[in-house]
Amino acid sequence: MLLANCKAANTTTSDAVDSNDFYHIDDFSSVEKFDTHVHLNVDDTDLIAQAKADNFRLLTVNVSPAYYPPIEEQQRIAIRLKKSHPDRLAYATTFSLANWNDDTWQQKTLDYLKESFEKGAIAVKVWKNVGMELKDKDGKFVMIDNPRFDPIIDYLAKKHIPLIGHLGEPKNAWLPLEKMTIKSNQNYFSKHPEYHMYLHPEYPSYDAQIEARDHMLAKHSDVKFVGAHLGSLEWSIEELSKRLDKFPNMAVDVAARLSALQYQAVTNWQGVHDFLVKYQDRLIYATDFEVGGTTNAAELRKRIHDTWLRDWKFFAGDQLMNSTGFDATFKGLQLPKTVIDKLYYANAVTWFPGINSNK
Ligand SMILES: [Zn+2]
Repeated sequence: MLLANCKAANTTTSDAVDSNDFYHIDDFSSVEKFDTHVHLNVDDTDLIAQAKADNFRLLTVNVSPAYYPPIEEQQRIAIRLKKSHPDRLAYATTFSLANWNDDTWQQKTLDYLKESFEKGAIAVKVWKNVGMELKDKDGKFVMIDNPRFDPIIDYLAKKHIPLIGHLGEPKNAWLPLEKMTIKSNQNYFSKHPEYHMYLHPEYPSYDAQIEARDHMLAKHSDVKFVGAHLGSLEWSIEELSKRLDKFPNMAVDVAARLSALQYQAVTNWQGVHDFLVKYQDRLIYATDFEVGGTTNAAELRKRIHDTWLRDWKFFAGDQLMNSTGFDATFKGLQLPKTVIDKLYYANAVTWFPGINSNK
């Protein structure tokens, strides 16, 4: 009791912090980490080699954009790479929506997923084509809370297999390019006008995307759900907090949306810091790094190393930084070791059972 009082007195009366509670920038390569959202779209081991050098393990995620190889080919690549690097790689499967309007779609989808799990997949991804492309027989957009998804999601819940959802887009997608807050959003939507929702006012709104996702989570409170890209609520830690409070079965990855957190840290450093501490069990480190086409090994390895190290400096460091996403400075969050260990490792293991089964 006395000791406890002493401890409490120490932490409340002094700002002095024990340096052992924090990682140093130099600890980057000695700390075991996961990047739970990468896309290995070619049979290439450079990313895995760099992961080994930087002490990362990877989850490669199959997904079905028109500009990616067919999902069956992505699965073959994932299985081959996993076989040769079982200690570095796990994979998430996905399913086709091409025959959505056929009566056989549900059974065929379940069959494909079962086969994927037999081959080692540990999670399933659904993508923004649900909500933004897929239409039913009446020409209406199919949202993720459509009852035809229910047997699939129920099956995942029963099998304790997590569902990764990239549903909707960053809120910037509903703005003209020049009004977007983050450069990478401007870059992506200038190349992909088909997903630049400002150009498609007849498509479901941002709020409709979020509502459908929330409704699906309310229906399926027993499925483990990992919202990719901060659950498309990247623009507001307050809005994201509301969902994490409401849906205990939801976690989010930070893939390709760290700039949006950093953007908020410019004006609300304390808020972002406290958000990461409060939701330390629900946030998972990831990048969305893609390997496709012909790549120069040295260039690829430098690019991912620089990304990983820059992100580490944001979470672990306390220095002034610049973002690649916008022109303003902000300070590193210097999160406690205990929080960093969850963000980079423990949460990946909790939310993706089986991710380190070959360790
Ligand atoms: Zn992705």
